[in-house]
Amino acid sequence: MMEIMGSKAKNIRHVIFSFDYELYLGIKSGSVDRCVLHPTASMLNILERHHAKAVFFIDTVWLLMLKEAGTAHTPAAADFHKVAGQIRDMAKAGHYLFPHIHPHWLDAGYLEDLNQWRLYDYSKYHFHALNEEQRDKLFGGSIDLLNEIILPVLPGYKPTAYRAGGWSIEPFSDFEPWFKKYGIKYDFSKIEDCPPYCFTKNMAKDKEGGFAEFPISKVPLLTYTRLCNRVLLKYLWIKGDRGSGDGTGAIAGKMQSEALQGRREKKEQKTEMAAVELLTRARLSAYLKFLKTNTYMQFICHPKMLSQHNMKVFESWMEYAFDTYEIETDFMKMLP
Ligand SMILES: [Zn+2]
Repeated sequence: MMEIMGSKAKNIRHVIFSFDYELYLGIKSGSVDRCVLHPTASMLNILERHHAKAVFFIDTVWLLMLKEAGTAHTPAAADFHKVAGQIRDMAKAGHYLFPHIHPHWLDAGYLEDLNQWRLYDYSKYHFHALNEEQRDKLFGGSIDLLNEIILPVLPGYKPTAYRAGGWSIEPFSDFEPWFKKYGIKYDFSKIEDCPPYCFTKNMAKDKEGGFAEFPISKVPLLTYTRLCNRVLLKYLWIKGDRGSGDGTGAIAGKMQSEALQGRREKKEQKTEMAAVELLTRARLSAYLKFLKTNTYMQFICHPKMLSQHNMKVFESWMEYAFDTYEIETDFMKMLP
């Protein structure tokens, strides 16, 4: 019918909106309301307006610690209850919910007077630093907790995907046994300029690999765009639009040198990962151009880092994208 009338079908684009649902990972975690609940609720509203499905990676070791703290501290128990409620609402709204493991949460200290956490021991920052027993306990505990929260509202729920804390999925041999044991087939940890692909236990691209990678996209940025962005960020900072969260990031000791190295690399970089918290009015055309020239795009989003400005520009991106293209947001329909 549409064709008879002469109208042209829209071009199809595969777009994944993935979220790291977590507090800050430094000496002050920030509050559950400002880092997680409020900014996530705002993003859920935007997604709902466009009938978009998202993938949430839940910082499960934080939640395991929060649940435990709740047995002795009423405010922690109240936070756990609120977070579990939001996760259930997301499940009911049709979003995907999967584990995201930051192992150094195991050494976090609860700050009773603030109802926040202090993460100062980074010896377990990398999954590689854990022994077999600790690894199994973290994966098993994470999956049990998600099942406990989600199964009552979504019978048949299965956590089939994973994102590594700090994006460090390699060496994949550290993860492969637990992927197999717990039925995880899809990984979302890599930042790469390519569409989804299958991979083997050595992380080599291979159609018969048995696992699939859904990379976070890398958007090219011109020097001019970077300059404009720097000016804009200064203006937003002065205006007080500094992001939702009230915690501090993970920078200490060994981590500090890694962070400095990252900053140096970032200066020279001509691309950046597609992130809602990095999307500004200055970068909007680059993000739209990326969608024009690529059929696959994955955004990452850290709700704790979102400013009002980011959310407004993201909504503009959504409006243009959904008007111009036929957008598929269900990653299960993008399997390589
Ligand atoms: Zn994370």
